[in-house]
Amino acid sequence: MVSPKKFATDSNIFYIGIPYQSTFDYIYFITPEIYDEIKHIKKNIDALDLLLTLGKVRLIDASKDNISKVRKKEIEVGQKRLSLADCSVIALGLQLNIPILSTDFSLVNLAKHLCLKTEIPGKKNFTMRTTMKYCSICKLFFTNSMEFCKECGNLLVIRRKI
Ligand SMILES: [Zn+2]
Repeated sequence: MVSPKKFATDSNIFYIGIPYQSTFDYIYFITPEIYDEIKHIKKNIDALDLLLTLGKVRLIDASKDNISKVRKKEIEVGQKRLSLADCSVIALGLQLNIPILSTDFSLVNLAKHLCLKTEIPGKKNFTMRTTMKYCSICKLFFTNSMEFCKECGNLLVIRRKI
């Protein structure tokens, strides 16, 4: 018996139909927030309920603790704030110690910063992005908590660090 491949799954994976087509050794864990997003796709609602009944899709709450770990990392990395649903996917990955399955680069990027395994259908090379504050006059990078340049007082902007 092959051990099942488990994923914390984003709604976009359901939009492209992957869980409805894959074999039974794949198990897709979702949060109630993600369920709310995907149940709006009317044509797939019966299929979704069937997958839930069969245990191929499993609904689990992400704990508040894990949600706040994700939010903390989000600030640390200096990334744009994710929706609660996106945030819950990463939190569930942490909670169950399983990879993240999503096509959303911001979500996957943050998950990588939390040392989670990630899978983006169709993408082979995915590199991590980090943003920092930057002074365009001095050409210097600062931490994300800084608002003004320490050298010249110029207002800092968010810039991707290569
Ligand atoms: Zn400066």
